[in-house]
Parts: sequence; structure tokens; C-alpha cells
Amino acid sequence: MMKVLGLIGGGQLGMMITEAAKKMQDHISEVIVLDPTPNCPAAKVGAKQIVADFKDEKAIFELADKVDILTYEIESGNSEVLKQAESKTMINPSPETLRIIQDKFLQKSFLAQNKIPVTDFVEIKSLDDLKEKIKQFGYPALLKARRDAYDGRGNYKIKSHDDLEPAYSSFPGKSLMLEKFVDFKMEVSVIAARNTKGQIATYPVVENIHENNILKITIAPARVSENIAKQAEKIAHDTMDVLHGAGVFGIEMFVTREDQVMINEIAPRVHNSGHHTLQSSKTSQFEQHLRAILGLELGDTTLVHPTIMYNILGTDEFSGRYKISDFGAENLYLKMYGKEESKPQRKLGHFNLVDSTNTLGVEGLLKSLEAIKEQIKFIKT
Ligand code: ATP
Ligand code: MG
Repeated sequence: MMKVLGLIGGGQLGMMITEAAKKMQDHISEVIVLDPTPNCPAAKVGAKQIVADFKDEKAIFELADKVDILTYEIESGNSEVLKQAESKTMINPSPETLRIIQDKFLQKSFLAQNKIPVTDFVEIKSLDDLKEKIKQFGYPALLKARRDAYDGRGNYKIKSHDDLEPAYSSFPGKSLMLEKFVDFKMEVSVIAARNTKGQIATYPVVENIHENNILKITIAPARVSENIAKQAEKIAHDTMDVLHGAGVFGIEMFVTREDQVMINEIAPRVHNSGHHTLQSSKTSQFEQHLRAILGLELGDTTLVHPTIMYNILGTDEFSGRYKISDFGAENLYLKMYGKEESKPQRKLGHFNLVDSTNTLGVEGLLKSLEAIKEQIKFIKT
């Protein structure tokens, strides 16, 4: 039976979900997206659009009425309204899972209860509470806003006693938590999926390099030992076992200096570190997400070609309309998101550099990347 797909959020993730949906014409007849920006990236590739805020109750119900299955590309959705909308349509991942994940404290509590490794953490209720609890963790420690944080903007690294007051007062009115600082040697992630029938699949672990708290490069596969790869995969599998609802999840992890793997956080959605799958794997994470929520058998997650994903971020030099210089290389797949204006650090596109002959390996790809990076220039238009 053909289904109408509803999507909350129509940025680049929604755009690539829409593109995958268009290739699944036997299963999905139409995509309707809810997004506040008129002609959002998903609309540009063929989704119909309801223009409204992501949390707008009326718009969410309007969308739920129009579609057979509903999903989302953002974790800041209105989980309470989505719970009510479950009586109108099937929503995945489940709004209850979204509610837990979108609060970092509830998320870590849930993982810890299920014996999935995370760093030590504690809820913070007041400045005095912070002053008391920091003694458990020592310095440095991270004070985090529990909700609505992204690109590290909800984090404050407390390096000494002198940072306690400024850290606390930088989050007025926010619910907070404190985390023990993890002295990691690498950040990795696993893209995992579960379909509505309970089938689970995980992609091989990848390595993530951040700049200014924003993902810059993903290296697939991660340069880790088999032992670490197995730990990461097991953690991802165990997580999928306990989370309710279907879909693709991006599971961000740390590898400690002692070669232990622990979860940093989970995204209940397709993830930037899974963009390499568009070229590296038989099934992209976007198709996989749709297969999961449609109840289809999950696709093959084998990494067929080593691949590097490089994010194209707006430069700090200017905001406004832009062009990027022509650049390219063999086996480079560029994907721009159709955003007309650049802003500092805004995700404007990415490319995948693919070792299609399986001869270069990730070290060879990284070397090619150095030369390619130099060619990318922003031109103000
Ligand atoms: P994003 O939007 O990138 O997912 P976020 O705002 O949700 O980020 P986190 O994922 O909590 O924030 O943290 C951002 C980065 O800060 C992590 O990728 C990691 O580099 C660092 N970080 C977070 N928690 C810790 C920790 N407990 N110890 C050490 N570093 C940490
Ligand atoms: Mg994060």
C-alpha cells in the first residue's frame, strides 16, 4: 500500500529523506514537510510544505491528519503534542523515545539504567548544588543545558573554581546537568536502525572530527582496533534493543585513552556522520530510515568503499548570498543543500570522497582531501 509520509523539519536531513522517498515509489506516494522557512531544502526537492514552526500544535495536527506515517529530522520537536497526534497517525521514532532523548539528563539516566556505558553525570538544581556536586567530579567538568542544545552551544567547560559562577549564570532559567569530563582519544559514531518489526541493523563505526564543536569530517571506517569496533557496535545494538520505536538513530560515542567506549549522546534521527552512506554503502541511512518506519526489511549496511565525508560550512568572513568556487576530483560527490544564504559555520553542503577501487584507504583519502580543501573558496554574490 502506498503511504503519504509526513516529515517534521525540512532542512538538509529532510531533503535527503525526501530524495530517498522519491526513489521508493512503490511505497511512498508523497512527502509533506512541516518547516518554518518557506521553500525549505526538502520542498526544493519535491516535498509539499506546511509553513509553520516545528512546535506549532495546530500545524502538527494538520500534518498528522494528512499523512499515513510521520517522522522527523529534528530532535527539538514537541513530544507532548506528538504523543497526542499518535491517535491520528503512526509516528516513529516514538514520541516517548523523543521525550527521553531530547532531555540529556533523562537520556543518560535511561542509558545508565539499561547498563549502557556513559560518563558520570548528575542533575544540577542551583549554584550551591553545582558548588557541592563539582567535588564528585573534579576539574575540568562540563555543565550542560539539558534541552535544546546543539553544536556544543549548551555546554560550559568548568576548568576551575573561578568558572563556577560564570558557568551557572550563562544558562539563565535552564535545567542543567553536570558531566564528568571524558579524556577521549577519539569521537566515533554508529548509525543504527530498527524497523517496526524489531529487526536491528548497524553500520560500521566511523570516526568524527569536530572543529569549533561542529562536525567537520567523518572517516569511514574509523581508525580503531577490532576490539573497539566491536564494543561500539555492541553498544549501538544494546541501545536499539531498549529504545522504543523504529527508525535510524545516530549514536555518538567516545573512545577513552583506556580503550573504553561510552555513549556521548543519541540523535533520534538520521545523522550528519551517516552522510557517507550515500556513496559508501548499498543502503543509504536515508533509505534505511524509511525502510525502518515502513516496516520493510532493513537494507545491507556493509561499508563497500572507504569514504570520507567533509562538511562545507559557511565561512566566518561574511553572511549573505554566496557561490562556491568550482572544485572537484575523481570520486568526489558534492551535495549542496540549496541554502541561499551563508552564515558563519552554517551547514551548506558536504562532499563524499570515495575510494571506489578500494586501493587508497582512508589515509590516501585524507591526503587527497588536503589538496581539495584548498580549492574551496566562497564568493559573495
Ligand atoms: P551536537 O549538536 O554537535 O550534537 P551538542 O550541543 O548536543 O552537540 P554534545 O554532543 O553534548 O553537545 O557535546 C558537543 C561536544 O563536546 C562533543 O562532541 C564532545 O567533543 C564534547 N563533549 C561533550 N560531553 C563531553 C564530556 N563529558 N567530556 C568531554 N567532552 C565532551
Ligand atoms: Mg552531540
